[in-house]
Amino acid sequence: MAFLSDTLARVKPSATIAVTNKARELAAAGKDVIGLGAGEPDFDTPEHIRDAAKRAIDAGKTRYTAVDGIPELKAAICAKFLRENGLTYTPQQVTVGTGGKQILFNALIATLNKGDEVIIPAPYWVSYPDMVQLAGGTPVEVVAGLENNFRITPEQLEAAITPKTKWFIFNSPSNPTGAGYSRAELKALTDVLMRHPHVWVMSDDMYEHLVFDDFEFTTPAQIEPGLYDRTLTCNGVSKAYAMTGWRIGYAAGPVALIKAMANIQSNSTSNTCSVSQWAALEALSGKQDFLADWRRVFQGRRDLVVSMLNKATGITCPKPEGAFYVYPDISGCIGKATPAGVVITNDEVFATALLEEAGVAVVFGAAFGLSPNFRVSYATSDEVLREACARIQRFCASLV
Ligand code: GLU
Repeated sequence: MAFLSDTLARVKPSATIAVTNKARELAAAGKDVIGLGAGEPDFDTPEHIRDAAKRAIDAGKTRYTAVDGIPELKAAICAKFLRENGLTYTPQQVTVGTGGKQILFNALIATLNKGDEVIIPAPYWVSYPDMVQLAGGTPVEVVAGLENNFRITPEQLEAAITPKTKWFIFNSPSNPTGAGYSRAELKALTDVLMRHPHVWVMSDDMYEHLVFDDFEFTTPAQIEPGLYDRTLTCNGVSKAYAMTGWRIGYAAGPVALIKAMANIQSNSTSNTCSVSQWAALEALSGKQDFLADWRRVFQGRRDLVVSMLNKATGITCPKPEGAFYVYPDISGCIGKATPAGVVITNDEVFATALLEEAGVAVVFGAAFGLSPNFRVSYATSDEVLREACARIQRFCASLV
């Protein structure tokens, strides 16, 4: 349509959102669909956090706030970075936005010029390349497959850096694979970055609290203090505290960048929801004991899903270190036909057939830059997961 902008040609609709919406529509139409598409915890936001929001409403905390966050929340974010990551930031180095998405968006719009390159390890969270392109930059994908446990090597990072590289986006544990970089693996990457002072680091730490077994979460500015002045450490309350709908993301980094991000935000949404900010303050500074319980629940679900998916014909499902996703490989299903006669030529066809013929919604791998795979979000009950995985097993067994 001639009316639409050239910018639109550079971006696809978010596949995670599209699958979630489709599953919701089918369920609303009375179809028996299990949604494993949305990356969102099934837990309710804890009561003490909800209560803080109610108190904020009753206290009239319902007006505009400072664009990039109320001082109380910024102080709590500084305390969180110190307590959990050993990182010292002042409130001037902190910004709060409408979910992790707006934070990343602000940072990219505020820094990218045409032709600037952004290194993105693949598989990547679906929106990174589109956001880079919307901001006028060029995404540079560095692929780490199953054989590398979905982790890029220092050699790959070194080879991807050019004089045009502006950012390296790092996400551990990862959406969509759940892969987490160990301290030593991350140090090997930060050593490379230390040799390239023009490259900035955007660390998306959204899954920090969702780590399993004895995996230790670390973040680049903590592992390599020499990167502190060129790292934007991004996080949010959505996944850790089951607060997806409240839309609170935050980041800390150099003051000039943080100011530039607030400038962008002041011209788009202004502050994120005032009530949500008071709820996030309680999330970050209130009790944290339930996080360990939730971790145990998620770990049990991971084990269940990994074990059941590995029993499905044609599927190989690695066991991730964190997040609430698995990213099984479906090479063994490609070329086969479904009972309805659909030939599975790629992972998008597989995901569509799985939804239509078996009633399970997953996100196809091509959306995350590595095929043939699909992403399962296992943030739902054991009972639902068992049924969904049994359906996937039956679907795979039915392929000929
Ligand atoms: N980050 C979540 C996901 O990957 C939420 C949807 C989105 O914003 O992409 O499913």
